[in-house]
Amino acid sequence: MVAKLYVAGCLYLIPSPLCLVPCVFFLVPYIATMKSILVFVLLPLTLLAQQTKPPAVCDILIRNGKIIDGSGNNWYYGDIAVKDGKIVSVGRQLNYTGKKAIDATGLVVAPGFIDVHTHLEGDEKKDPNATNFIMDGVTTCITGNCGASNTDIGKYLGFIDSLKLSINVATLVGHNDIRKQVMGRANREATPDEMEQMRNIVDKAMRDGAVGLSTGLIYIPGTYTKTPEIVELAKVVAKYDGVYTTHMRDEGDSVVFAINEALTVGREARLPVEISHFKLSGQQNWGRSKETIPMITAARKEGIEVTIDQ
Ligand SMILES: [Zn+2]
Repeated sequence: MVAKLYVAGCLYLIPSPLCLVPCVFFLVPYIATMKSILVFVLLPLTLLAQQTKPPAVCDILIRNGKIIDGSGNNWYYGDIAVKDGKIVSVGRQLNYTGKKAIDATGLVVAPGFIDVHTHLEGDEKKDPNATNFIMDGVTTCITGNCGASNTDIGKYLGFIDSLKLSINVATLVGHNDIRKQVMGRANREATPDEMEQMRNIVDKAMRDGAVGLSTGLIYIPGTYTKTPEIVELAKVVAKYDGVYTTHMRDEGDSVVFAINEALTVGREARLPVEISHFKLSGQQNWGRSKETIPMITAARKEGIEVTIDQ
C-alpha cells in the first residue's frame, strides 16, 4: 500500500517536474511516518483487540495435537474446533472455548482413515457402531469390491442411511452381480442386447451414487468376460468421474497379463484404476514384485492414474 502511494505520488508529479524534487522529499518522510503509525500503533491495537475478543464457543475443542491433515502437508501443533458435528476451525492457539475440551498433547490428530477395500454387505446391521473400523481409526469404508455388490445402488444407499452407522459408506457396483443379473452364469461373450442392459445398470448405479465399477475376474462369471466388455462398462463409469477397481484375473503365474489388462481398461476407458490387494501368490512367484511394481510406476508415467492397495 505504501509502495502504491509512493508510485501514485510520482506519477502525479510527472507533469510538473520543477516541483518533483521537493515533493518527493516531502513524500518520503510522510510515508515513513504513516508506516510508523501503522506498525507501531495500529498493528498492536489490532492484535490487542484480537486477543481481548471473547473466545468463540464450540462443542469440542481439541488442543495441542500434532495435526496431520491428510493433504500431504507436514505435521504441525494446533487446535481443532468442532461445532454441530463439523470442524469449524483448525489452527494454532485458536480463540475458542469448547463445551468439551480434549488435551491432545503428545498425540496425533488426523482425519479418519478410508478403508478402500471392504466387503461389508450383510454385516451392516450386526454392529451399527462399526467398532471394528472405528477402533482402527477408519471412518469411511468403500464396499462393493471384487465384482460383488448390490446392483440397485440407490436402494442399498437408502438402506445404509436408515441404519445411521457411525462410519461413512461408499460403494462400487460389482461387475459379477451385474453380469449374473443379465446373463446368469453363461460362459460366453455378451450379445449387443446384453451389453446394453449391463451398460444401463452401470449408468443407473453411477447416477444413484456408486463411486465406480469393480470386477472380480478370477471368479465366476467374471472369468468368462473378455477385456472389451469391461472397457465398455468402464466407459460408462468414466462419464461420471468414477473409478475402476479390480480383483485381477490372476495374481500368480499370469500376473503380468492381468496387470496389463487392468491398465488397458484405464487407458481405453480413460478413468482411474485401483488394483485391489496387489500381491503375488505361489512360492514360485516370490520376489516378482521387482517386475510388477515397475509396471505400475511406468503406467503412472504414461499418464494412467493407477493406484494399488494391499
Ligand atoms: Zn478380492
